[in-house]
Amino acid sequence: MVLLAHELGLGYAALKKISKVLGIPALHLKAYQRHDKRVTAAEIERGLESLHRTREQVRQAYADPDVAELLKEDAEAVINISVSFDGTWQKRGFTSHYGIGVCIDILTGLVIDYEILSSYCHACALKGNAKQEQKITEEEYDSWRQTHSDCARNFAGSSKAMEQESAKRMWARRKSLSTAKKVKRHQQEMQEGPTYGAGMD
Ligand SMILES: [Zn+2]
Repeated sequence: MVLLAHELGLGYAALKKISKVLGIPALHLKAYQRHDKRVTAAEIERGLESLHRTREQVRQAYADPDVAELLKEDAEAVINISVSFDGTWQKRGFTSHYGIGVCIDILTGLVIDYEILSSYCHACALKGNAKQEQKITEEEYDSWRQTHSDCARNFAGSSKAMEQESAKRMWARRKSLSTAKKVKRHQQEMQEGPTYGAGMD
């Protein structure tokens, strides 16, 4: 049932309604949260595996004799590819709490990287409300904040700014490559001109 909710993009309240319509007992909230964590972890893992396979396909697609030689020496070598970038949101009108930026290889049309931004965390919102309604003290809130390590909020700017920020974070990942790879990459760029980033807004 939790997997069904994920596939449909629904949450616990919707799942409860579905159970009621079907005439079956609804999952307890705690049980739902436990399964939700497992399903989310499995989906993230599946997504990362898929991304890894996609990147391999892209590397193969660019493997002309020179690149093939480079990859033979170092399977992890950085190669030049041409990409485009685009961003979208969960809903229109620049009011969305969730945005995603994707980097697409032009030759194959495959997505090779993405960055999801969220300006909302449900746990933070619940605790914030509890503090405002004085159900918990300021100290209790602060000590909870310190232990809240899995906060879903990873961006504090406007919805509109998410597109640019997602690109910045993806391109920063490129810069976090090892020094040796960066040097190799830089040498290639000096010879051929940068291509990563072509088509970026
Ligand atoms: Zn949070």
